[in-house]
Amino acid sequence: EFAEISIKDIDQISKTSFPLCMRYLFEKVREDHHLKHGGRMQLGLFLKGVGLKLDDALAFWKAEFVPKVGAERFDKEYAYNIRHNYGREGKRTDYTPYSCQKIISSTPGVGDHHGCPYRHFSEENLRAALARMGVGSRVVEDVMDKVHNRHYQLACTLTFEAVHGSSCDAGINHPNQYFIDSQKILQ
Ligand code: SF4
Repeated sequence: EFAEISIKDIDQISKTSFPLCMRYLFEKVREDHHLKHGGRMQLGLFLKGVGLKLDDALAFWKAEFVPKVGAERFDKEYAYNIRHNYGREGKRTDYTPYSCQKIISSTPGVGDHHGCPYRHFSEENLRAALARMGVGSRVVEDVMDKVHNRHYQLACTLTFEAVHGSSCDAGINHPNQYFIDSQKILQ
């Protein structure tokens, strides 16, 4: 039902409806004009699930990467993988976006920005990120409490509820579910 989003809406939507893991990757690619493989996969498949069409995905990544890597290298090294994720290359598998469980159990290395911030950020960075999302200090303490007990998806659910001012009874178990539930509330 949210079949398509366009590039011109994506900045706005990233701020209102992306879960923290995707919001962070999105900010990073805008800032660094680069993302390592794990980040490109996690964000790229999420954006596909959100309804970004292949041509728009190619345009989005190209616009971000070209200042850093140049158009020729982009076409050679990165475009193939994007088409691959959309099932247009290789085995033509239509790859699906990652679930929270998969993201939480990933192991980002130095220079990687993928993963789940509730699981992989330092406490200091997580607190700062939550404050930037507008989460109030009382809720931040509740979130940190869930994090300390390794209930990362519950921490994400509390964040969702705080930023939307609305309950999320099902809990968060997939970044694309977070997005859909958010759009339902905001539209
Ligand atoms: Fe993303 Fe899921 Fe972590 Fe929330 S709990 S930040 S949706 S991986």
